[in-house]
Amino acid sequence: LTTTEQEVLDEIETEGVDFLRLQFTDILGTVKNVSVPARQAEKAFTEGIYFDGSSIEGFVRIQESDMRLKPDPETFAVLPWRDKDDSAAARMICDVIDTSTGEPFEGDPRYILKQALDRAKEMGYTVNAAPEPEFFLFEEDEDGHATTETNDHGGYFDLAPKDLASDVRRDIIYGLEDMGFEVEASHHEVAQGQHEINFEYDDALTTADNVATFRTVVRAIAAQHDYHATFMPKPIPKVNGSGMHTHISLFTEDGENAFHDDDDEFDLSDEARAFTAGVLEHAPAITAVANPTVNSYKRLVPGYEAPVYVAWSDRNRSALIRKPAARVPAASRIELRSPDPSCNPYLAIAVMIHAGLDGIENDLDCPDPVRENIYEFDEQKREEYGIDTLPSNLGEAVDALEDDEVVYDALGDHVAEKFVEAKNQEFEEYLIDVSQWELDRYLEKF
Ligand code: GLU
Ligand code: MG
Ligand code: MG
Repeated sequence: LTTTEQEVLDEIETEGVDFLRLQFTDILGTVKNVSVPARQAEKAFTEGIYFDGSSIEGFVRIQESDMRLKPDPETFAVLPWRDKDDSAAARMICDVIDTSTGEPFEGDPRYILKQALDRAKEMGYTVNAAPEPEFFLFEEDEDGHATTETNDHGGYFDLAPKDLASDVRRDIIYGLEDMGFEVEASHHEVAQGQHEINFEYDDALTTADNVATFRTVVRAIAAQHDYHATFMPKPIPKVNGSGMHTHISLFTEDGENAFHDDDDEFDLSDEARAFTAGVLEHAPAITAVANPTVNSYKRLVPGYEAPVYVAWSDRNRSALIRKPAARVPAASRIELRSPDPSCNPYLAIAVMIHAGLDGIENDLDCPDPVRENIYEFDEQKREEYGIDTLPSNLGEAVDALEDDEVVYDALGDHVAEKFVEAKNQEFEEYLIDVSQWELDRYLEKF
């Protein structure tokens, strides 16, 4: 056992942990757990825990279904809520190993991100990332099902007593802190019932792990208060949707921020600009991964602080990429504003990294920032500025993904194929459905 593994065993003892949840995510970003008695922890480290991969979305075909979970001891955390029988449980995030080869399973999203980080490392960089997940808190009905009734009537930065959710949010934050999160800020968002909690930036792998954990903790603690927390991107029409802006920067091996340049008007280095150019170049294909649901495209429309246009800016929020003001050189970074919290964070961060590195490798030219409100541009003005539009629905986004070698390859063949297949099917189901809007509009008219 390594020292960290031994420390985990000790902590299981001192904390009185009875159950271990071994966590991983499927291709669509759903968190999966295999629960084992805590006394199996040592075995989990030395031999791994075997499971049947054929039942996991997009994992494997039935005939080759044996997978092994290899827990990452760095991710050990005692869960801030108790099981029904009051025993303490802890979780560890796992890598998935293909038992037939003993190698990492290429359908494991965490592995796809690790490969992106390896590519960055070969180019001399480590990657930092920070997400800004937004979500809604909704009332539950008598049967415990989610409604779309918001639980408060607050607005941006409003405080109690209007913000009745502040005690739920406080408990969520305590829960996150118990699990080792450094919560930087939390506030009520623009829409009724909408919230945002920001946590400290970290290396990209830890950040993706954190997003997966974050969604679980938020949902569990909201449920304890009889609320349903949803990360659905646009649950209510005509009000702001929920985004998950993702901040990203590259650091050099000696710990310098490779994105910072004091002499530049925007404090951006050449690398930062080339990286930005790469992300802009591959934006349509990235969208399929960062905005992977039919509903995601109801958010990406003009007028609700979500991006629609492929451009960058140092100030306005209608652009796809924003360069936030940085107080210190270490904080120079770019903010991609398209991702929403329904995405698989491992895959979304992986494709961003590959797209950006592609920009650096090919020395792509970064366009000038756009400082006006692009929502107000007409088509002619957008053409003049050379501004493209993001895909307007899931079908277009998946087409863009299939046409983009860099982003497609970033996912690896296994994930890319399964992802495209699942998303095309989802979009087709949506297309043949008849919505309430159509019934309201046409049923009595014709
Ligand atoms: N809710 C907005 C979105 O859909 C973002 C608002 C903000 O700037 O935080 O992305
Ligand atoms: Mg926000
Ligand atoms: Mg933001």
